[in-house]
Amino acid sequence: MLQQTTVGTVLNRYNDFFVMYPDLESLAQTSESELRKAWQGLGYYRRAANLFKAAKHIVEFGFSEDEEELKAIPGIGPYTASALIAIGHDLPALAVDGNLKRVISRLFRLSTPYEKGLDQEIRNMSKKEFARILKEIGPRVFNEALMDLGRSICRVRKPLCQECPLSKICQASQVGDAVSFPVRLKKKTKLHSLALLRFICLHKNQILLYKKCKGEWLEDQWELPTAMIKGDESLTQYPKLTIEIPLHECLRTNITKYKIDNYSESRKKTELLNDLPFYKKRELAYFSLQDLPHTSTASLKILKKLGHEFS
Ligand code: SF4
Repeated sequence: MLQQTTVGTVLNRYNDFFVMYPDLESLAQTSESELRKAWQGLGYYRRAANLFKAAKHIVEFGFSEDEEELKAIPGIGPYTASALIAIGHDLPALAVDGNLKRVISRLFRLSTPYEKGLDQEIRNMSKKEFARILKEIGPRVFNEALMDLGRSICRVRKPLCQECPLSKICQASQVGDAVSFPVRLKKKTKLHSLALLRFICLHKNQILLYKKCKGEWLEDQWELPTAMIKGDESLTQYPKLTIEIPLHECLRTNITKYKIDNYSESRKKTELLNDLPFYKKRELAYFSLQDLPHTSTASLKILKKLGHEFS
């Protein structure tokens, strides 16, 4: 849940999710629509779909301690597999997250780029450079210690080398170029600005939503009818607004490489279809605010910001 989602957002759903699915068996037996509902508001639904597939897999085949077998489980990549081995099973492995990459690349002044092979190089170190210490301290404690060190001392821009217990053996600290590690090939992707107008079509306490198609952002989720006011011409999933209307700024959201300014406008359905014929061909439906389908996080945030109560 916490992957690319803030703690605050997760806290709103975490307890309810575990009440609905207290164990792997209950999760493995759920239906797609129930799962979507339980995941609502957390975004990136693919994580939930993988969690569901993983629960089914584990209920059927058990929970392996082998990295390759763990990676065969849907949604489990090299990082999660090594975290499950090191932190879950307390067996030798390095859970190479951003913190570990930063600390270890600085300790050894590793020149392998972040984007090309650094993960694997560090993972291999669990069998050589770190084999003894993993055995002495224990994999779980060692991994958690490095993660904590990366978060609190070996910081991205201002590492606190003078307070660091590893400073005597840290090669980057001794040379004085800690911030050059990990080595990066690419600059951060620049966010593009987009302005979207979200239409609020309310009828008898029901809200009009449309279903996102395959290949669009948030595939299979429901969203407020939306038009693009300003932004990327190549983005065809939203119709362009050709009429001039006064804009009421609502809130800012992000998706993929876009930074989105959301505006909102109340409309009747007939007016919407008149202004934006695009929606005549889309799956549109009214939903009670108390019984929404799997609705996009941005749409929910906008409704909330406008003072609508829903569940
Ligand atoms: S000495 Fe500095 S660069 Fe090295 S691990 Fe500690 S905080 Fe990071």
